[in-house]
Amino acid sequence: MSRAALVLALAAATALPAAALAQRAAPPVPAKVDPRVAALRDAALKDDVAWDIVEGLTTEVGQRLAATEAEARARNWAVVRLKALGFKNVRVEEYQMPVWLRGEEGAEVVAPFPQTLKLVALGNSGATPPAGITAPVVVFRSYGELANAPAGSLAGKIAYIGNAMEPTQDGSSYGAYGPARFVGPALAASKGAIATVIRSVGTDHHRNPHTGGTNWPEGVAPIPAAALSVPDAELLERMAERGKPITLKLVLTPRFAGTGTSGNVIAEVPGTDPKAGVVLIGGHLDSWDLGTGAIDDASGVAITTAAAKRLLDGPRPRRTIRVVWFGAEEPGGYGGKDYASKHGSERHATAGESDFGADRVWRFEVNLPDSAKPIADRLQTALAPLGISRGAGVGGDGTDVGPTLALGVAAIDLNQDGTRYFDTHHTPDDVLDRIDREQLRQNVAAWTTMLAVVANAPEEIGSVTPRR
Ligand SMILES: [Zn+2]
Repeated sequence: MSRAALVLALAAATALPAAALAQRAAPPVPAKVDPRVAALRDAALKDDVAWDIVEGLTTEVGQRLAATEAEARARNWAVVRLKALGFKNVRVEEYQMPVWLRGEEGAEVVAPFPQTLKLVALGNSGATPPAGITAPVVVFRSYGELANAPAGSLAGKIAYIGNAMEPTQDGSSYGAYGPARFVGPALAASKGAIATVIRSVGTDHHRNPHTGGTNWPEGVAPIPAAALSVPDAELLERMAERGKPITLKLVLTPRFAGTGTSGNVIAEVPGTDPKAGVVLIGGHLDSWDLGTGAIDDASGVAITTAAAKRLLDGPRPRRTIRVVWFGAEEPGGYGGKDYASKHGSERHATAGESDFGADRVWRFEVNLPDSAKPIADRLQTALAPLGISRGAGVGGDGTDVGPTLALGVAAIDLNQDGTRYFDTHHTPDDVLDRIDREQLRQNVAAWTTMLAVVANAPEEIGSVTPRR
């Protein structure tokens, strides 16, 4: 049925004039861009604040593993920088969490074709004895194959889990193949495995393994868990294709070092209308320990802070903008949970985070109540000149803002192009050199536009049904 025919049919069915229905069914006419929003957006395309934060944090602090003294130095660095930029109510909110530290790591094929392999321990990995373990390997090409392995079938063995990850603009391949890392080692342990090695959850073909957190449900004791570089994983799979049993020696000596302190760094652009709710934005301050955490996630805190700074330097917005440099995202989202536990009862208008590198924003998605739907139309018009289109999905992404969104807070996601993100994600190559300065500026312009529209929106922004 054509659209016109559908409208007529509906009109007949409901006895409403066709013209009135056609008006209702028409897509919203995008509002004109407020010239003040356009001016802020365009000026942000020359931003240097974000670059200065990423360059400064990666040069003067470097890696910032959660709950270590390096992350504490990073918090101090953040407080000094945020105060120097003129933000208000700059403060640190601390919390306690388990500390995990990397140890020795090495792997070698003992048989059938002796040679060494490149691997790194996954965050929260258990340890081998200092002298290592030597055991037969069972090769699973995918997490699904492992899931089908019978209970107890991996007793005394090392499980290998492959994946077929390819680059995607929206990062969806991480969701598809990430479980090999997130929960693969625990699943192997539950079937008796004494260690797990995975093919790195990454899209490059360099000999850099990708670390990242793995999770142990209650009752599953951590086993040694590590990621092989993609070429080393392919090497192991080629050996398996030759049909001879593979024996691997693993040395992995990370350790849990008790309880330590992590924290969120919070800064604000105070609004004029406290009842209108807070606009929450940010990224995470901690990083894995292999690179300097430039794309993950110095760029996220830098982009959101640089955007907020542009509102800070103009007339006071209606809503308070709160920038949070969340702690301890990588090992388990501790900062996001702590924030929600301390601030969940406050009125939030919207929440959104930047944690997908530093490449350009290409799409935005929202989860807004009906009363605030015109905001999305204005965003669509204002963001279009930056090459950003409106997605059909429901917004509400992110580990750090996730616990706050789960309380029913409206969401605005600015989706970055993830095509090359997983080439260097969680590797030693996550360094400043990976950041494209012009794309970083486009991100600042996108976030500045979003803040200019949302923080000043006259509509009330009430609660929503969370995406999940
Ligand atoms: Zn991240």
